[in-house]
Amino acid sequence: MTTLNHLINGEPFAETGRTADVYNPSTGAVIHQVPLASRDTVQKAIDAAKAAFPAWRNTPPAKRAQVLFRFKQLLEQNEQRIVQLISEEHGKTLEDAAGELKRGIENVEYATAAPELLKGEYSRNAGPAIDSWSDFQPLGVVAGITPFNFPAMVPLWMYPLAIACGNCFILKPSERDPSSTLLIAELMYEAGLPKGVLNVVHGDKETVDALIQAPEVKALSFVGSTPIAEYIYKEGAARGKRVQALGGAKNHAVLMPDADLDNAVSALMGAAYGSCGERCMAISVAVCVGDQIADALIERLTPQIQSLKVGPGTCKGLDMGPLVTKAALEKVTGYVQDGEAAGAKLVVDGRSLKVADHDNGFFLGGCLFDNVTPDMRIYKEEIFGPVLCVVRVNSLEDAIALINAHEYGNGTCIFTRDGESARLFSDEIEVGMVGINVPLPVPVAYHSFGGWKRSIFGDLAAYGPDGVRFYTRRKTITQRWPQRATHEAAQFAFPSNG
Ligand code: NAD
Repeated sequence: MTTLNHLINGEPFAETGRTADVYNPSTGAVIHQVPLASRDTVQKAIDAAKAAFPAWRNTPPAKRAQVLFRFKQLLEQNEQRIVQLISEEHGKTLEDAAGELKRGIENVEYATAAPELLKGEYSRNAGPAIDSWSDFQPLGVVAGITPFNFPAMVPLWMYPLAIACGNCFILKPSERDPSSTLLIAELMYEAGLPKGVLNVVHGDKETVDALIQAPEVKALSFVGSTPIAEYIYKEGAARGKRVQALGGAKNHAVLMPDADLDNAVSALMGAAYGSCGERCMAISVAVCVGDQIADALIERLTPQIQSLKVGPGTCKGLDMGPLVTKAALEKVTGYVQDGEAAGAKLVVDGRSLKVADHDNGFFLGGCLFDNVTPDMRIYKEEIFGPVLCVVRVNSLEDAIALINAHEYGNGTCIFTRDGESARLFSDEIEVGMVGINVPLPVPVAYHSFGGWKRSIFGDLAAYGPDGVRFYTRRKTITQRWPQRATHEAAQFAFPSNG
């Protein structure tokens, strides 16, 4: 069993204080210890980032991009190692881990466009002999705090772009599966990043609080559960920091009576049970418009859920691995009990699943509830496990009203063959990311990712164009060079082109 290090000023840094266990969720065994950074360690990372900032800020964006080009190549060359580490500590299948890494690499590719992204805006002759332009300058030291469910992709949403924009970054990965995140950060240095530009401090609340409270940290990017997102937003904003805090979700898929049912069922299987339901864009509610489509959906889903191939994520050819921790397993099985007690019909119960030779793994089979109603906890709360709830409604308008009344608004989708229904849905739905016959509408790297309502706190979404704006601040310069300087009298009227 190894103890991981922090990564400060480009070097491994050993913590002498508190540690936490990192599990292999397929076996239930502790495989690593992760250090939990003290305030002193966080300060070391901040000092390193602060010292690196003046030179990095003045490094031409094209040179910054060259580091990212090499980084992308290294990520591709090291795919097998990274994917193995993700799967070992998170539990997701190798194929799923490879998918998250590829989406993360797309964010690196976007960040390599830094020279283009930072060109700014220019107006010649904004007034007589007056030119005006806006620069997008880095903020300084910025920090990111990331969740367990995408240990490669979500950090890659943040620091490649922040660094491309000229900032220095401190990353606090999830303490549950930190190894792949750390390996990827080390590759940034192999790619030629100057020391101190990226630092990794592992930790928990104490570490996060030290980052929130440090005056040198100008911005916080957070992705995780809603209560923590709200806490970080409030505490960060109260200290004058820029904060984007992405939270939890309850994503609904609407099935219209005219949907292509075979394809909708396949899409729902992947979106509800892929990654054991531990995705912020996972579909956890199927809203069926009419009993006929609901009955047909249940009939087709049931055998498919019962025959999901579940096992250790590191074995090839599986559909689903374990949940991430024992606590997660207990929480999700608690919801299943709660749903039954509240009167929902448990059509498929995954609690009896046994994985051969893995008695201590955190496994749960796929679960399916029918006749779920909006007052039930299994409907209202984020379960974050392989549990799909079917809610029956009478019309598209009822489906829209149901979804709009939910506190979360991360992702949603509609399955239909009717353009009019699809257009009404995408116009009226109060959700940030919408799919039309697309179950997981995660925006590509050159758009931006963000939900609505209590799925996000802060004004700007993650990555893409919003990410550039988040990690830079606008400075607008107005300059006048009259061709022949003549004496001009003082003007007391407000300057205008009028
Ligand atoms: P989490 O909120 O428990 O942890 C996220 C991060 O916050 C971790 O780095 C953790 O160490 C830190 N943290 C935990 N408790 C803290 C505290 N009291 N104070 C300060 N920091 C604390 O989330 P998780 O379980 O790692 O991830 C799953 C959650 O993340 C789900 O709710 C999921 O929907 C959400 N998520 C959202 C998105 C999105 O883009 N909206 C993406 C991925 C995951």
